Amino acid sequence: MAKVLITGGAGFIASHLCESFLGRGHEVICIDNFSTGSRKNVASFSSNPCFRFIEQDITRFIRVEGPVDFVLHFASPASPVDYLELPIPTLKVGSLGTHNALGLAKLKKATFLLASTSEVYGDPLIRPQGEEYWGNVNPIGPRGVYDEAKRFAEAITMAYHRAHGLDTRIVRIFNTYGPRMRAKDGRVVPNFITQALKGQNLTVYGKGQQTRSFQYIDDLVDGIHRLLQADYHLPVNLGNPHEMTVMDFAKKILDLTHSRSSIVFEPLPEDDPQVRQPDISKARELLGWVPQVSLDIGLTKTIQYFQGQIKGYGK
Ligand code: UDP
Repeated sequence: MAKVLITGGAGFIASHLCESFLGRGHEVICIDNFSTGSRKNVASFSSNPCFRFIEQDITRFIRVEGPVDFVLHFASPASPVDYLELPIPTLKVGSLGTHNALGLAKLKKATFLLASTSEVYGDPLIRPQGEEYWGNVNPIGPRGVYDEAKRFAEAITMAYHRAHGLDTRIVRIFNTYGPRMRAKDGRVVPNFITQALKGQNLTVYGKGQQTRSFQYIDDLVDGIHRLLQADYHLPVNLGNPHEMTVMDFAKKILDLTHSRSSIVFEPLPEDDPQVRQPDISKARELLGWVPQVSLDIGLTKTIQYFQGQIKGYGK
């Protein structure tokens, strides 16, 4: 039985990780300051005796008693709307927070995993994006606070690996969706689903010709478990290569929700990446991992979740 510390554990992705480690019989220490996470996300397993919650901002020194085998660093605002509202906390959690989490892993001689992002590729000039691509990032644009924080986080993670021999992993997470996303986090999946369910217009930004590739949460969690078992320290992309335009995604949501909402166009946010599609050859070869959940099945489960979140829905 391992002891796993997860920063940002009350967030969308990391709460699923907490649950999955508990399900496998491990002990989980979850740290979160509820900046964008929520107590609700950990409610279903918070009474598990193997689960411990610490409310803390990890940009401050982290003190944890006893042994820790894994430190998984997931704390950060992750939706464009959130990190535009929280630019300095985003930079601080990616830099100071990552430094603290690495320091803790070093002290405990734990394996460290960094949740990085496809945003390190910025507005990519190639597609699909393989791990060797260095990216096309505007450091001083509005998204730079997230992109550069995560690029710094990758740099310091590799430095701890090289200078201190820390056992590290870096996962570059592409657009991921599923239950426990915040209805109002501003990302395309919760926006379109809640708009469709409430009979509101779906807000497509720009002409909707930009592309994204959506991966279901369970596939990501499986990939992260596999990566932790692998002896590999360079970044690994985890995402679903099934790429589509935002316009086609809007139509898919209308179809699956049987909604009669219309599509309206709003301005494209600054530096919004035009294409995004992961090259997952590395994950396939190294981890024997490929996504298993189809978009229709994943979205159906996610739509059910949001139906439950909308007060009075279906009554
Ligand atoms: N988007 C959109 N309408 C929305 C929210 C997002 O058209 O209501 C677009 C956004 O411009 C981007 C894509 O959907 O091109 C994905 O945006 P999201 O905020 O989910 O995250 P990103 O992939 O940009 O990090």
